[in-house]
Amino acid sequence: MDRVDLLIIGAGAAGMAAALAAVDYGVESILLAERGETLGGILPQCLHQGFGLSYFGENLTGREYAARFVRRVENSPVQVMLNTMVLEISTERTAVLCHQGGLRVICFERAVMATGCRERPLGTLPVFGSRPSGIFTAGQAQKMINIAGYDIGDEIVILGSGDLGLVMARQLALSGKSIVALIEQKPHLGGLLSHQQALAGLRIPVIKPATIEQVHGSGRINAVSIRCMNNGRGRVLPCSSLIVSVGLIPERELAEPVISDGEAPPWLALCGNCDYVHRIVDTVSQQAESVIAGLFGKEGQLI
Ligand SMILES: Cc1cc2nc3c(=O)[nH]c(=O)nc-3n(C[C@H](O)[C@H](O)[C@H](O)COP(=O)(O)OP(=O)(O)OC[C@H]3O[C@@H](n4cnc5c(N)ncnc54)[C@H](O)[C@@H]3O)c2cc1C
Repeated sequence: MDRVDLLIIGAGAAGMAAALAAVDYGVESILLAERGETLGGILPQCLHQGFGLSYFGENLTGREYAARFVRRVENSPVQVMLNTMVLEISTERTAVLCHQGGLRVICFERAVMATGCRERPLGTLPVFGSRPSGIFTAGQAQKMINIAGYDIGDEIVILGSGDLGLVMARQLALSGKSIVALIEQKPHLGGLLSHQQALAGLRIPVIKPATIEQVHGSGRINAVSIRCMNNGRGRVLPCSSLIVSVGLIPERELAEPVISDGEAPPWLALCGNCDYVHRIVDTVSQQAESVIAGLFGKEGQLI
């Protein structure tokens, strides 16, 4: 069994900032475990600007913001394990890791969970009809297009006008796709003002307050039924894809076995989107740094 001073789970903005802060605190052995193939978490798939305005005083893309941390992590003494899923942590301060070589148990003094959040799928909403292909969550669509280079369809309905919904509406409209409608259940758009303003001039039809009641299609989605919430009127919108952007759920089930009465033990800290959903990445990096300051005293002494 290997032993480390600090185990960090997840290498997105939060995990990378926590690892670098721990190096600055003089923590000697740091293991950064990431289930994905690369460092950066959600950031490398974000090709739009709006990242780093307060942390770096520059308007960066998500990919550029990530690159600044990735370079520093790669040149640091932090031990990085990619393609490594942390399956379990215990009150005995052990963690079970699954990686290409099989299962491995790690013993740690302190742990930071930086596991981000997952997207709420269509299945969590009361929507009738079948579940044909062509339905994506916004982050899934973003990853398929920006990382894997897939085409997700030409006539697209987007449900939800949070940051993810707005960013995808803009990107897809700019790439020549037809955004059939952006549907929002509230009377106003969600998301950052900068993301709302970025839609100006793109002629994206916004229907609000409204929601989707039914999905149509057998092999592939071919339409959705929507209902306006202020007058009860229904409409059918033909489409070839549906992007669902209806919320994020912090991913912290891993911590459940060690949490008692809602409190994490003193050796465990949560940061980034797995603690709460941050609107901007700058606060994620800052929070991760202060979490390390709380876990470690001067020169890497455990508090
Ligand atoms: C579409 C979109 C637009 C955005 N726009 C902006 C913007 O304009 N400006 C801005 O400042 N911010 C923006 N953000 C927000 C910002 O990108 C995020 O808040 C931030 O990157 C989250 O970082 P994180 O480290 O908490 O989570 P993530 O980036 O999700 O990282 C979590 C990591 O943990 C890993 N992980 C999870 N569970 C395990 C496990 N059990 N074992 C090992 N690894 C695990 C995951 O694979 C992932 O790599 C946007 C986000 C999105 C999705």
